[in-house]
Amino acid sequence: MPEQDRPSASSATFQEAPGGVTDAGPDDAHLKAALEEEAALFEGSDDNASPRDGERLYARPFFGYASADDPAWQSVKADVGDSSWTPLEAFLEALPESGATASGLTVVSAVLPVTARTAADQAASDCLPSERWLVSRHFHSLAVDGLARRLASRLGSLGHESMAPDQAPGFKTLPHPRYLFTSKWSQRHAAWAAGLGTFGLSEGLITASGIAHRLTSVIVRARLTPTPRTYAGFRDWCLFFSSGKCGECVRRCPAGAISPDGHDKALCREYMSRTVKPWAAGRFPDMEGAYACGLCQSRVPCASRAPVARAWRLRPVGLDASGAPDASKSARTPWRPTAGFWPGLRQGGRPLSRKKGPA
Ligand code: SF4
Ligand code: SF4
Repeated sequence: MPEQDRPSASSATFQEAPGGVTDAGPDDAHLKAALEEEAALFEGSDDNASPRDGERLYARPFFGYASADDPAWQSVKADVGDSSWTPLEAFLEALPESGATASGLTVVSAVLPVTARTAADQAASDCLPSERWLVSRHFHSLAVDGLARRLASRLGSLGHESMAPDQAPGFKTLPHPRYLFTSKWSQRHAAWAAGLGTFGLSEGLITASGIAHRLTSVIVRARLTPTPRTYAGFRDWCLFFSSGKCGECVRRCPAGAISPDGHDKALCREYMSRTVKPWAAGRFPDMEGAYACGLCQSRVPCASRAPVARAWRLRPVGLDASGAPDASKSARTPWRPTAGFWPGLRQGGRPLSRKKGPA
C-alpha cells in the first residue's frame, strides 16, 4: 500500500470506551489474548509491509506490561528527568476528562524484532547498513504507528480507553544534558519498566529477542498483570556491565561513537548524516531522505538474544527492602573497565578512543 494511502496513526490511537470500564479484573487473560491475536494479524498486514515490495518490515511483536502506579516510573524519571511523563501524565494529556488514576492504568509495551532476513543481511554488512535494514528503518513509523493504532482500536472495542503516548498532543523531543536529546515518553524506558529488557553499552534495549528491533506502546485503562522484571538495574543484560567483557558493539561501530563511556549520539548522527545519507540517496533514490546505520545491533552477542543467561534478582527494580522507591537503585551502573582491560580493543578500525560521551 502506498504510504499516502495508509490511515493516519493518530486517528485511532485515542479510544473512548463507551462503558467506562476501568478494571479488567483478576482474569485479564482475555485482554492479553486479544493483544496477542492483534500482534499475529499485524505481522501479515499492510501495516507491516514494505511499500517497495510488500516484504514484511518486522517479525511478530511481543509484549510486556507495567502498572502505571509501579514505583519503577519514578526510577525512569530519575534517569530521564522530570520532563518525562509518567504513564498517568501521558494518559491525561490525551484524555484529560477521563478521571483516570494511576492505579487503573497499565502500560502495554511492544517489541517489533527485525526479521531474520534483515538480521542476516545486516550481520553480513560492514561500514554501511544492508538494504533490508535501511528499508525497515525508513518505513518503521508505518509499522510502529500501525501496531499502536491496532492495539488501541482493539482495546477500545473491548471497552477500555487507551492511548499511544507518542501520539499525545504534548509529545515532543527535548534537549537533554546526558542523552543529548530525549522525549516526553521514552519507549525504551517504558519497555524496561515492562520487564522486556535492559540497556546495552550502545544504548539500545537488549530484549529476549536481542537489541535489533523497534518499540512502541499504548496505555490502557485496565489493570493487567505486570510482567516480572527479572533484572535489578538498567543495564544488567549487557555483558559489558554484567561481566566487564564484550564491547563488540564498540568494534562494530564505524564512527567511533561507542566507547566505555557509552554511546555518543552526536557522533552517531553525524556519521549517518554525512556518510550514510549521501550513499543511500545515490543508491536508493526511491527512499528519499533514508538514513540509518544499526551496525552495532548486528553481529554482536546481544543481536538476537539477551546474552546474560541467568535471571537476575526478581525483586522489583527501584524498590528498597521495605518496598519504598529507592533512588540509588535507579542510578546507571557505575562499572568501569579496569586498567589494562581495553588496550587490545579497537573500534572502527582504530585504537579505542577514550573520549568522554555526551554526558
Ligand atoms: S555488544 Fe556487548 S557490550 Fe555492546 S551492548 Fe551488546 S552485550 Fe553490551
Ligand atoms: S553507534 Fe551509530 S554509527 Fe555506530 S554502529 Fe551504532 S548506529 Fe552506527
